[in-house]
Amino acid sequence: MADLLTNPHEHQRKVMRALLWLTVFATGCLGLLNLLRGGLFWLAVSELAYAGFALGLLFIINRTPHLRAWSLIYLLPFFSLTVYGLLLPNTSPSIFAFIQAIPILSYLLLGLRLGLWCSLVFVSMGILAYSYRFLLNGELLDSAVSMFIIAVSSFAIMLFSHIYERSRVQNENHLRELAATDGLTGLANRMSLASSFKRERSRALRLQSPLSLVVMDIDHFKYINDRYGHAGGDLALCYLADKLRERLRDTDLICRLGGEEFALLLPDTSLQEAARLADELRTWLAERPISLAGEQYTLAFSAGVATLGEDAEDMDTLLLVADRRMYEAKAGGRNQVVAAGQHYRLSAG
Ligand code: GH3
Ligand code: MG
Ligand code: MG
Repeated sequence: MADLLTNPHEHQRKVMRALLWLTVFATGCLGLLNLLRGGLFWLAVSELAYAGFALGLLFIINRTPHLRAWSLIYLLPFFSLTVYGLLLPNTSPSIFAFIQAIPILSYLLLGLRLGLWCSLVFVSMGILAYSYRFLLNGELLDSAVSMFIIAVSSFAIMLFSHIYERSRVQNENHLRELAATDGLTGLANRMSLASSFKRERSRALRLQSPLSLVVMDIDHFKYINDRYGHAGGDLALCYLADKLRERLRDTDLICRLGGEEFALLLPDTSLQEAARLADELRTWLAERPISLAGEQYTLAFSAGVATLGEDAEDMDTLLLVADRRMYEAKAGGRNQVVAAGQHYRLSAG
């Protein structure tokens, strides 16, 4: 699942690798055969050159971050060569089989939008080239029927490839969303905190702006579960998630780390500002009790705050520091915020 999040195009790399090996073998053999047959010298030379080009690409494709661009560089000459092959006087109509592979390859390797355009352009050119070569001199009605059949079958393959790729992309996006989301509260989970932190850290370093992390843990949560049942506990977790969403900025990341522990990743926020914000949240929450089984229950939490640069350079250490401070807050009597040895309990609550 993590691999899917970090390398969403890995399947395209595998397809491309298989295709390149096939190209080296197939166009290499075809090039040699056409050279022996005679009369197709330039086609044979193009095929052999293309086999060499595919062999070179095999070395690039394993590492390149520009997979789609290289796929396009590979596919455009391949498609052009196929159409060119169809137009030549001595070639066989069986070349058209390659035209029908164009939509499958385009959608698999280039994605929806580029795949659609490439398929449309080259399949249309292929049908026209085939009709010009093989149907133009036949009986009009026979030719029209043949052209109709090849057009319908080609566009059907295109349509199915389009539908398949669209639902694959939708499923992939859905999976990515699920993998990054906490199932109960709908907040980000620990995995998406890691990817957001990476992005926000680069931004903070580039803009020289502060980035702070708050770790918060609900006080006496076990009591809520014991008194109101597990469902009551779940309700309290969702309530806190909603309240955090209501109170924080869109640019802040709210994350459920697990159990009744949450983290806030706050861009453009210094240690003091983050501690003050966490403390304000604490009092704000105290003024808004949750209704559980007809009773009003005031949620409280203890929090630890840490800041990039001052406390740590990476996420794991930053989490560790904030977590340690959160436990200091617990030890200090709960319902308070600790940042760099300072205990915040600025207002009542
Ligand atoms: P403290 O004030 O020291 O934080 O004590 P606490 O009771 O909040 O913490 P403790 O670690 O003793 O208990 C946490 C409980 O949270 C235990 C666990 O069963 C419960 N819990 C963990 N995940 C969930 C969940 O998803 N839903 C519910 N309802 N309870 C959960
Ligand atoms: Mg707790
Ligand atoms: Mg806990």
